[in-house]
Amino acid sequence: MAIKAITLIVTVFFSVTLSSRLCAQQRQRKVVYIITDGISADVMENQDLPNLKKIIQAGSYTRMHVGGDKGTYNETPTISAVGYNSLLTGTWVNKHNVPDNAIKAPNYNYQNIFRLFKDQYPDKKTAIFSSWTDNRTKLLGHNLPAAGNLKVDEYFDGYELDTARFRHDKKSDYMHQIDEQVVRDAVTSIKTQAPDLSWVYLEYTDDMGHMYGDSPEFYKAIAMMDVQVGKIWDAIQYREKQFKEDWLIVITTDHGRDEKSGRGHGGQSDRQRSTWVICNDGRLNTYGQYFDLGIVDIMPTIAHHLNVKLPVAVAQEQDGIPFFGPVAVAGLKVNHISDHLDISWKALDKKGKVKIWLATTNLFKEGGKDHYILLAETAAGQQHYLADITKYPSSFYKVVLESELNTVNKWVILK
Ligand SMILES: [Zn+2]
Repeated sequence: MAIKAITLIVTVFFSVTLSSRLCAQQRQRKVVYIITDGISADVMENQDLPNLKKIIQAGSYTRMHVGGDKGTYNETPTISAVGYNSLLTGTWVNKHNVPDNAIKAPNYNYQNIFRLFKDQYPDKKTAIFSSWTDNRTKLLGHNLPAAGNLKVDEYFDGYELDTARFRHDKKSDYMHQIDEQVVRDAVTSIKTQAPDLSWVYLEYTDDMGHMYGDSPEFYKAIAMMDVQVGKIWDAIQYREKQFKEDWLIVITTDHGRDEKSGRGHGGQSDRQRSTWVICNDGRLNTYGQYFDLGIVDIMPTIAHHLNVKLPVAVAQEQDGIPFFGPVAVAGLKVNHISDHLDISWKALDKKGKVKIWLATTNLFKEGGKDHYILLAETAAGQQHYLADITKYPSSFYKVVLESELNTVNKWVILK
């Protein structure tokens, strides 16, 4: 009897574990991220937005910043396309080379998440729903050899070029109509095709910000956006319920607005730099909870959810750190002191080891490979290392700190 009971318990236990494991494996992971244009954190936090509130309650709201590290080599203009490309590549403007909305010469050597995803999962599907065609043709580099001939599987854009259907009126109502169409496209596609990685871009809020600044018109545009995002959230919940998929939704903005009127942006004031991120996941890691997140952190976070392994050369150039999942190091600082580099960091996991690498070239920028010298391997928990660089005279250094869980880097440019 006793043996039989134990056998039964063991059998039940194993079959339960096995089936839950199978279930976890079968739950397909998907990501949709939405950029709602030009809403600073203070404005976001002071509106009553019932749909976004639902997502925040299921997950998280966190302040974020754009603009790189102010006053340093990676300071980045707080401008739309610049922000989108920081999100896509996980790098600041000194690397991705999109300093304005003209998008003249993006440096595709810093690969975007769509390209990395399709390289590793050629059979999975990507999509873009956008009122700005450049997002696909120039930033993602759809069909461009220089951008790895990425093919976005499904795209709904170009509406801003259709002036017959969307007549460009002075009040910019047409832009709201385009956003409505973009949302209809996104909802239909998510419900029926469920692309594995997709980007929704909504522009109307920024148009109202530029026209009216901090004003009822701007707030009304944000309320309209809330309704639109609610429709996409409903579509995702439909998929999760019907198809047991595991969706991550990320909603963010590309820049804040100026303190004085709320009309402008592009500069480095606190409000222009201040953004935010909403996810339907509340399990922020230590980095997500205690560090000042940047828009560059979204790319590795998406990569984490989609199980995209960043190739070593890509990881070495990443300016972002995932805010979900395991991470070990953050807050890297490098200061040049005569013949030494004073290197310090914060260990979020003190158990492991870190490797400290040094390069004096930037061949990666031209599509080449940098030769990294291993300066030291030390306990992550030490959190500092003084490197003698007498043997490596240069006016340029790249320092890479590699842990078992994530990799961070800093440049030193001597004048
Ligand atoms: Zn913008």
